[in-house]
Amino acid sequence: MLKIRIHRGAKEIGGNCIELDADGVRLVLDVGRPLNAAMDAKIPLPSVSGLDNGDDPTLAGLVISHPHQDHYGLADQVSPKVPIYIGEAAHRILRESAFFTPSGLDCTPAGFLQNRKPFAVGPFRLTPFLNDHSAFDAYSLLIEAGGRRVFYTGDIRAHGRKAALFKKLLSSPPKNIHVLLMEGTHVRPDSDGSEKSPTEDEVEKACVETFKATRGAVLACYSAQNIDCLVTLYRAAIQSGRDFVMDLYTACIAKATGNKSIPQPGWDRVRVYLPNSQRSKVMKHGAFERTDAVKLYRIYPKELVQRRHELVVTFRQSLGSEFKSAGLLAEAQVVWSLWDGYLKQPKGKEFLEFLERNHVPLVHHHSSGHASIEDLKKLVTALNPGCVVPIHSFATDRFAKFFPRVTQHADGEWWEG
Ligand SMILES: [Zn+2]
Repeated sequence: MLKIRIHRGAKEIGGNCIELDADGVRLVLDVGRPLNAAMDAKIPLPSVSGLDNGDDPTLAGLVISHPHQDHYGLADQVSPKVPIYIGEAAHRILRESAFFTPSGLDCTPAGFLQNRKPFAVGPFRLTPFLNDHSAFDAYSLLIEAGGRRVFYTGDIRAHGRKAALFKKLLSSPPKNIHVLLMEGTHVRPDSDGSEKSPTEDEVEKACVETFKATRGAVLACYSAQNIDCLVTLYRAAIQSGRDFVMDLYTACIAKATGNKSIPQPGWDRVRVYLPNSQRSKVMKHGAFERTDAVKLYRIYPKELVQRRHELVVTFRQSLGSEFKSAGLLAEAQVVWSLWDGYLKQPKGKEFLEFLERNHVPLVHHHSSGHASIEDLKKLVTALNPGCVVPIHSFATDRFAKFFPRVTQHADGEWWEG
């Protein structure tokens, strides 16, 4: 018999955590941090026996579907005795991120997820499916145990740079799925099912227009870990005749993908800027190998200002005054390639006020990391599951309006899979 319980995510986006129990042996999928938690708030682990101390032999392991905080963010509290499974590149990215930010993760995985390569964890047979998402090295998971087959979408989309993976999932889906645990980020209280995000290709075209029309520097705000977005911005920079300036953090993440077809230092027209905060970090830890690795491609404030009309420069909310004193804001244009909700939060509002005071306009060019309802419908049709269980949505009660055979389950409730 297979039992399942969602610990968090049955009625919210963020903090995803699912526990499966096959005849008394358990497996956990994701251990995310709630999105509404303050940066410094200590959030306790979900109540999964053995997760915090590793002392319960019935806990077989933890699988992290992809490197987004709402899926791995509490993993630093998990006992090192609990075997962790994650994508290899995802693991490297989080380790790099741990050097630069408090939100990274430096763990020692027991095994790595590989596209369509099944492996066993106790009585569970897992098959990862590399998918299209705004996080790099993200997977959906087929879990077989107790004679049942569960497909967990993780976070997924069909309009990014890896859209072919979604198409392949539709054309050769796993068969005989009993339970589809499906993310529904775009199932919102007010959605009617027709909403669509621009594709990465559409965002690229829009960026080219904006970059060409900007007289000064293009200041691009994006997540260093959103590799699709990095590729989009780089490609748009080249097409508009500009060099692309990464900060050291982005350069390290791009390298950590282990994928030579991702823009990184050494590529044509890629330069690296070292913001003050990252310089302090390198000096504090004596991590000069990081700066040595990019020294041929470094760009310094003087050149940044002189050539600002020829550059797309990686920008962050925290860099405002540094760029202002360097003289980089004159005639600049900010491109916001992140979720617009961040701008409604206190720090985002402060950032907008800063830009307004300095007469720097902001334009949105962003592709959502999550599938439209229309694409999710195609997925449900292809997988043809026995039931659809909603997760990762603020309106899970509305799933039944869009999808067949929906069964809702509350956080904390055990149910038969
Ligand atoms: Zn995600």
